[in-house]
Amino acid sequence: MAYQIYLFNSLTRKIEKFTPLEGKTVRMYSCGPTVYNYAHIGNMRSFLFADLLQRVLRVVGGYKVRWVMNITNIDDKTIRDSAFGSIAWLPEMGKQTDDPMQNLIKFTEFYRKAFLEDIQKLGINLNDFYKMPKATDYIPQMQELVKRIVEKGFGYIANGSVYFDVSKWRNYDIYGKLYHIDFEKFKEGSRIDADSYDKEEFSDFALWKAKKTGEPYWKFTLNGICCDGRPGWHLECSVMEREILGLPFDIHTGGVDLKFPHHEDEIAQSKAGYGIEPTAFWCHNEFLLVESKKMSKSLGNFFTLRDLLEKGIDPIDIRYLMFTVHYSTQLNFTFDGLNSARKARLRVQNYIYELFENKNETGIEPDIEKLRDLVFAELANDLQTPKAIAYLFEFLNEHPANNLSKSAVNRLVNFFEELNKIFNVWKIEPKPSETIQIPEEVIHLAEKRYQARKDKDYKLADKLREEILSKGFIVIDKKDGFELRPNEND
Ligand code: AMP
Ligand code: ZN
Repeated sequence: MAYQIYLFNSLTRKIEKFTPLEGKTVRMYSCGPTVYNYAHIGNMRSFLFADLLQRVLRVVGGYKVRWVMNITNIDDKTIRDSAFGSIAWLPEMGKQTDDPMQNLIKFTEFYRKAFLEDIQKLGINLNDFYKMPKATDYIPQMQELVKRIVEKGFGYIANGSVYFDVSKWRNYDIYGKLYHIDFEKFKEGSRIDADSYDKEEFSDFALWKAKKTGEPYWKFTLNGICCDGRPGWHLECSVMEREILGLPFDIHTGGVDLKFPHHEDEIAQSKAGYGIEPTAFWCHNEFLLVESKKMSKSLGNFFTLRDLLEKGIDPIDIRYLMFTVHYSTQLNFTFDGLNSARKARLRVQNYIYELFENKNETGIEPDIEKLRDLVFAELANDLQTPKAIAYLFEFLNEHPANNLSKSAVNRLVNFFEELNKIFNVWKIEPKPSETIQIPEEVIHLAEKRYQARKDKDYKLADKLREEILSKGFIVIDKKDGFELRPNEND
């Protein structure tokens, strides 16, 4: 049975009933990564939030989801870091050339592939995406939108760049409605060229930027004026969501920092150029913090997924950690917090293993339908993962796995399979038999001993046997080698 989904809409600042615009398919667009570096786990919170949402829509809401996430491979940062002689260029990317376009593509493809590897480790399934378009594949369509905006009188050309005329736009009561801009406090700024800006002012932003020496560019003539250059960052989303999903679509996601200017500018562009706002449903995740500050590359207080994997952390624990806190609450990242998340995840995992070990014919028969209903109703209610998890733990604590009847075990295993289609952090299977890892060092000692025996140096062989034993292993001589076993009496 499907549940009615409710979501907090940033536009109205209310929890609203969600229904797709057309039939049973939800069309959802998520602002994706800027591929100029490895994504940090703050960014990952945003992608895991979008993943959670699309999974809840499918499993709990009973919908099909057409999920699109863009790849920003052209902006100020990708241009800066792929430029000839940049210290951000890695030997693994190959040789830099004197062609800035080739450098840009090589550089961003390297990080795009790394991103795909990373999100898969975090339990995001690439097959769940309808498309992951790259900005550079939509340049003609972006030029077309710039043209439309200028034709309709909302854009102007200055020194070969094209700007959006925000002051003109303000009269339409649209600009500022997502970020809830208080125009009393917000100053009218001057024109702004940077892709990212967070000044408390609204400025004419760049739709298209004139080419600069040494930068990649595309040919573009507008109103007879040479505007060779490249798109401003906000343009790509307005274009790709329309091209791939059609306007309006159902849900747009991103981190809270994107409300302004990125999403405000996106709304302005789409409404001015196409006459339609992208969507009526905007969902934003809160920040991941480190020591109470936003985790960001510019502050230098960030961990990439790779940093954490090097510390031996299981990426699935990071996925689970993100779900222990509601997406609209700031999450302060600490290693203690991550460790607690791991323990909680493993507590459920062990319960699942115990279910498979349960060979009872008869036993207690708890109400699993009720558990499912409590958990799914919380997920349907604006993705209340912490509350859903709380119900799960309450059930686990009250119903030890070895007390359940066979039929209860079967129903519970089915429930976990369904729940894991959302959480994707457990293995719904019997506990794998433990394979003992023999340390390299012990194998090396045993090889040395084998050689000593071949050399008939029995004194050395005995000494090595003792040494192996002191490390917790017994060596057994075989005709053509040896076998190592853990010392059970240890
Ligand atoms: P970027 O790669 O900078 O374009 O960002 C990708 C996504 O990560 C966007 O949706 C941002 O809003 C989001 N984001 C960036 N920093 C954080 C953070 N510390 N916590 C949560 N989300 C973030
Ligand atoms: Zn975007």
